Amino acid sequence: MICVVKWRRNMEYYHKFQLLAVVSLMFVFPNAQGWGEDGHAIICRIAQSRLSDSAAEAVKNLLPAYAQNDLGNVCSWADHVRFYLHWSAPLHFADTPDSLCNFQYNRDCMDENGEKGRCVVGAINNYTTQLLDYGKDTQYNLTQALLFLSHFMGDVHQPLHVGFTSDKGGNLINVEWYTRKQNLHHIWDVNIIETAEERFYNSDINGFTNAIQENITKTWSGQVKAWETCNSNQATCPEIYASEGIKAACQSAYKDAPEGSVLEDDYFLSRLPVVSFRLAQGGVRLAATLNRIFG
Ligand SMILES: [Zn+2]
Repeated sequence: MICVVKWRRNMEYYHKFQLLAVVSLMFVFPNAQGWGEDGHAIICRIAQSRLSDSAAEAVKNLLPAYAQNDLGNVCSWADHVRFYLHWSAPLHFADTPDSLCNFQYNRDCMDENGEKGRCVVGAINNYTTQLLDYGKDTQYNLTQALLFLSHFMGDVHQPLHVGFTSDKGGNLINVEWYTRKQNLHHIWDVNIIETAEERFYNSDINGFTNAIQENITKTWSGQVKAWETCNSNQATCPEIYASEGIKAACQSAYKDAPEGSVLEDDYFLSRLPVVSFRLAQGGVRLAATLNRIFG
């Protein structure tokens, strides 16, 4: 379980965070971990389009005014603040033992100091629990909880966010993306999505988002119910999402992409369906989680 004392202590920084959060929007920070801006925005926009009336109302109430009721506008907030909210940095991912290709909460969900629960799976559970206070007198900043939950639900669906420990989820695997030097993690965060948008959607994020939405209602429609479902009436089930993630990392992201390899059309075209699938699952599950939280 999450260390409650630590989380509460973190809340004390809240007022400072608010100011910094606004300031952060004025800068573009490099994106080392997390889908890039577009991946997160796609997940959040898919999710917001699937909210129940009461969940849509709650999200609207909780979003800061500058988001203009578009969750996609603030879906990367957690990446922007991680550079000064240092305590939040380990919450974007989970490291698993090399080559095992599975995720176990008790074994893998901790930060570098071994503090339990401090990984993306623990963070999703924690912010879900906080949001269940909506409508009550609460100690939590529920706006911050919504932005963290929306972001981490995206991160847990990026296969290399549940990657191997020794290569830091592909961050230490240097390859070439067509003619440019890149690390494997960044290719999954940004380059596959960017290349797809450039090549197939006129560099338009909306074109890519709409294509994924269409797959959700057509090609994958038979699977959507299963994606949404959690066992034992839990509001969210990030252990399942993380287990799928490391499996996809082994079967797709790491496969045929060792240090020094040149990744071109073969890799791009065969991995793009995996990226699209995980973006779809992330959006559907964020919506399902918010619908369960807000009734
Ligand atoms: Zn992230």
